[in-house]
Amino acid sequence: MNNASRRETGNAAELGYEHVEVPVLVVGAGAAGARAAIELVEQGVEPADVLVIGKRSHGDAHTTWARGGINGALGTRDPEDDWTIHAADTIAEGHHLNDPAAVEVMTSRMPRLLRELERWGMAFSRTDAGEIDQRYFGAQSYRRTAFAGDYTGEALLSTLVEQAQRREIPYRENVFVSRLVTDGERVLGAVGTDLDTGEFVVFDSRVVVLAAGGYTGLYDRHSSRDDENTGDGPALAYLAGATLMDVEFVQFHPTGMVGDRYGEQWDGRLVTEAVRGEGGRLYNADGERFMERYSPDQMELDARDVVARAIAREIREGRGTENGGVFLDISHRDRGFIERRLPRMTERFADLGVDIATGPMEVTPTAHYGMGGVSVDETGETDVAGLYAIGETMGGVHGANRLGGNSLAETVAYGELAGRAIASRLDAVDRRDRSALGDRAERHIVELARLADSDGRYDPEALLAELRELLQTHAGILRDEATLARGLDRLERLRRRASDLSVGPRTDRSYEFALNLGFAIVVAEAILRGARKRTESRGAHARTDFPDERPRWRRNVLYARDSVGAMRLSSAPVGTPSDPVQRALDAGYALEYHHLE
Ligand SMILES: Cc1cc2nc3c(=O)[nH]c(=O)nc-3n(C[C@H](O)[C@H](O)[C@H](O)COP(=O)(O)OP(=O)(O)OC[C@H]3O[C@@H](n4cnc5c(N)ncnc54)[C@H](O)[C@@H]3O)c2cc1C
Repeated sequence: MNNASRRETGNAAELGYEHVEVPVLVVGAGAAGARAAIELVEQGVEPADVLVIGKRSHGDAHTTWARGGINGALGTRDPEDDWTIHAADTIAEGHHLNDPAAVEVMTSRMPRLLRELERWGMAFSRTDAGEIDQRYFGAQSYRRTAFAGDYTGEALLSTLVEQAQRREIPYRENVFVSRLVTDGERVLGAVGTDLDTGEFVVFDSRVVVLAAGGYTGLYDRHSSRDDENTGDGPALAYLAGATLMDVEFVQFHPTGMVGDRYGEQWDGRLVTEAVRGEGGRLYNADGERFMERYSPDQMELDARDVVARAIAREIREGRGTENGGVFLDISHRDRGFIERRLPRMTERFADLGVDIATGPMEVTPTAHYGMGGVSVDETGETDVAGLYAIGETMGGVHGANRLGGNSLAETVAYGELAGRAIASRLDAVDRRDRSALGDRAERHIVELARLADSDGRYDPEALLAELRELLQTHAGILRDEATLARGLDRLERLRRRASDLSVGPRTDRSYEFALNLGFAIVVAEAILRGARKRTESRGAHARTDFPDERPRWRRNVLYARDSVGAMRLSSAPVGTPSDPVQRALDAGYALEYHHLE
């Protein structure tokens, strides 16, 4: 770790732990965490008063997997675009469930933040005139998705990491945070385990920023990196007393690879939307171009949720392939065109023995993005004082469905916003009695010590795999009351077994799996119960027993922990957009589908 952080060795607990005192702890080193840390320092906070931690090595966050782009109404291609139309597109695609204030916070900042990234040297793809290039992405009225080839996330994170390093912001890798400590109202710090040494670490902090990613890695078939997006951020916040929202909304990307065909390691990996953008057609096992039945005008280029549902229905009704997929075929186009426009897909499938210029790929929907997360105010603060949630960990921006390119935008917009708010408030944060931190942290450390080397009956990795299968089966694309209720019963049984685990030492993978299992159970309960409560279909949430969108459900489902530790669900109405955004919504901008690249 960087020596700039003050630390001492605690001796209160026999077990021993490292005590790190740092005013602002940022949990998560993806784009959101990095951008927040940069802003803190820009606003005058000493670098030594900030510490960014991640459970993986430096620069290795899930952000690096983002490919397609980052949205902002720069208007380099379409000058008539502006941030209000970006906001309107976001709200329309979110089926009017987004928090309009959060959407406006993001869309109004993005043109400036893209220019800032440009100044910081991000390798954006350029137009012939040398401007930042922008392309169409699904359901956006204008070309506003800026990109760096098909490695936008990597380019973004390396730019931010470099900026953080220039500002000498301390970073610590391979520390797994398993508990936030509060005094019931305010955050006091966090407890983690150094995964390399097994040493416990207590962070004594006035402010904690959770930028720990999302939760779609909890589905059996998902597009995330293995063991990332496992719900740590939302679960840590919820267990500390913060409210979650919209967790029932999970976006399934229509075209994930089918593991039974290409091998387990490829299961759920994305086949880029560009294949459909370039003319790719979907066929069922009977050779029918089935999108004619579901979306005769937009066909394969309809929104992700529409295409994913169509594929799910074809498979459910017995017209899928024997591997549980459908065919995606672009072989009607010239080989030269395919190789030029889809080089990575051509290469990936060639390595797997498939020539996509002559034959189809086998695809099936894959869990891609959790729209829900921690409920925050207009500065990113949760309802636990001093605890902020940003990036994929937060909820509110995406409503019932996310626009492609908006999540990277959310990371930098909320990173900047939260960083600024924290910097302006830090001096005023009262240094109330911190003794509660030691007691509470030590109690958790004792629990952690008991968990490690425990000799129970169940393997945490196996239970995590079972939970993933459970969510896939019971809270997948098509949901209904009976399936969700059975899912909750199964989850209860799994929860009981999860209290009797067989776990290795603290540096063993089984220890991390055991901690993740605890988080996963929280998030799975929220998904299943929220999906059961929402008796309508809206955006990515499709109930076969309630197939229509119901106006009275224009409400967010909220999830909070009550005084005895049970999850309580309630709902609250959605806010109202500002006048300029309402005018853009009323104007009814829409994408000309033939433009989609
Ligand atoms: C295949 C794929 C392609 C995508 N393409 C795009 C795209 O083109 N455009 C777009 O806008 N979005 C895209 N997304 C979504 C986007 O990549 C993510 O929403 C975004 O990168 C999330 O960034 P983040 O900073 O919030 O979290 P992450 O990048 O996920 O970082 C989370 C950080 O938290 C740390 N962490 C997690 N848990 C703990 C813990 N318990 N203790 C300590 N540290 C912890 C991790 O180590 C990591 O450092 C894509 C997603 C996928 C899966």
